[in-house]
Amino acid sequence: MALIVHKYGGTSMGSPERIRNVAKRVAKWARAGHQMVVVPSAMSGETNRLLGLAKELAPSKSSAAYNRELDMLAATGEQASSALLAIALQAEGMESVSYAGWQVPIKTNSAFTKARIESIDDDRVRADLAAGKVVVITGFQGVDEEANITTLGRGGSDTSAVAVAAAMKAAECLIYTDVDGVYTTDPRVVPEARRLQTVSFEEMLEMASLGSKVLQIRSVEFAGKYKVPLRVLSSFTPWDIDINEEAKSGTLITFEEDEKMEQAVVSGIAFNRDEAKVSVLGVPDKPGIAYHILGAVADANIEVDVIIQNLSKDGKTDFSFTVHRGEYARTVELLNTKVLPSLGAAEVVGDTKICKVSIVGIGMRSHVGVASKMFRSLSEEGINIQMISTSEIKTSVVIDEKYMELAVRALHKAFDLDQPVS
Ligand code: ADP
Ligand code: ASP
Ligand code: MG
Repeated sequence: MALIVHKYGGTSMGSPERIRNVAKRVAKWARAGHQMVVVPSAMSGETNRLLGLAKELAPSKSSAAYNRELDMLAATGEQASSALLAIALQAEGMESVSYAGWQVPIKTNSAFTKARIESIDDDRVRADLAAGKVVVITGFQGVDEEANITTLGRGGSDTSAVAVAAAMKAAECLIYTDVDGVYTTDPRVVPEARRLQTVSFEEMLEMASLGSKVLQIRSVEFAGKYKVPLRVLSSFTPWDIDINEEAKSGTLITFEEDEKMEQAVVSGIAFNRDEAKVSVLGVPDKPGIAYHILGAVADANIEVDVIIQNLSKDGKTDFSFTVHRGEYARTVELLNTKVLPSLGAAEVVGDTKICKVSIVGIGMRSHVGVASKMFRSLSEEGINIQMISTSEIKTSVVIDEKYMELAVRALHKAFDLDQPVS
C-alpha cells in the first residue's frame, strides 16, 4: 500500500462525464489498496471565463488590491471541480472529502496571481487517509499569512500536486492530462512528435521554462528539490485498464543521467509566444548602460529574458531584450519616461510579434556543432534569427512569430526527433 497523488487537468475534468471517469479511475487505485490524494484543476475554460469577467469590469492594472480579487475569483474554479469530484467519488461508493487550499492549509507568500508555496500542513489530510477516505485538494491555490486566498500562476495545479506529494512523501505523483506523456515537442504543432518514455529532470525543467506547458515549471522545480517520482500520463485511456499497465504508461521524469550510449543529443523542442522584444537605440556605449536600463526594469518588477547588445558604432550601440508580452506596454512606457531622458539614448522601439524556439538536450553538453546545425536548418527555411541565447543544455532563438510552426517542424526533422529511438 502506498500513498499516491493524482492530478487531473482542466480537460480531464471538463464535464460531469469526465469527472465520473476520473472518480472511477481514482476508486480503482484506492480499491487496489493505495491511499489516494487527488488534486484537480478547474473544469476546462473556467479559469479563463472567470478572469474574462474581471477584465470586462476593469482591465488588468496589476495592483495588489486588484490581483487579490483575481485570486479570490479564480480560486472558485478549483473549489467547484474539487467538490464535484468528491461527490462523484461518493457516488462510486468511496468515502471522500474535498478541501480548498486554505483548509489544508497550503501556505503561500502574498504574491497574488503568482504565489509561491511555503509550507503544507498535512495533519488533516493524513487523518482522513487513515480513516479510509479519498482526499481531494484544490489545485492552483493557497492562503497567505493574512488569510487571503492566493493562486500559483497559470497551470499551477501541477505545482500543487507535486508540492502535496513532496510534503506527504508520496510514493509517486501522477499528472493525468489530455496527452499521453511528454513529447519531443507539442504534438498539436508537430503531429510526428514522439512520446518520450523518460525525460531527465534537467531537460524537463528547461522544456517547461522555455514554454512546454505540459508541466508548470514550479512543479518540476519541486520535483527536483524533493526528488518526487513524477509521471505524466493520459486521463483518456479507459478508466478500467490494468492498474499495473497504467502505472508504467506515459513519461517518467528521471533524476539519474541516462547512461545509454545512444542518448539523443536533442531531446525536445520548446516554443513560446508569450514574449515581446524591446530595443533601446542609440545608447552611448559606456560602462553601466546595461545596469541603467535593466536596473530600472528590474526595479519595476519586470522579468527580462533574452538580452543582446550590439557592436558599437561611433560610440553608440543598440540594446535589446525580451519581456513577457503582458509587460510590453509597461516596459516601453518605463523606458520612455524614466530611462531615455537620463541615458541620452535616441529611441525605444519594440516588436510584440516574435516567438522563441528552443532545442533542449543533455546530450548537448558533450557534442559540438549542435547550435550551428540549428542555425543551418533555420537558414534553409529562410528564417531570420533576431536573438540567440544558450546554456549548457539548450539553445534558443528569437524569430518572427509567423515562422514559429515552420521552425519547430524543421528543427524536429533536422534533429531526427520523428525517428524511433534505437
Ligand atoms: P492540463 O489541463 O492537463 O494541465 P495543459 O493544457 O496544461 O493540460 O498541458 C497539456 C498540453 O501541453 C497538451 O495538450 C499539449 O498540447 C501541450 N504540450 C506542449 N508541449 C508539449 C510536449 N512537449 N509534450 C506534450 N504536451 C505538450
Ligand atoms: N485552472 C488553472 C489554470 O487554468 C490552474 C491549472 O489548470 O493548473 O491556469
Ligand atoms: Mg496544465
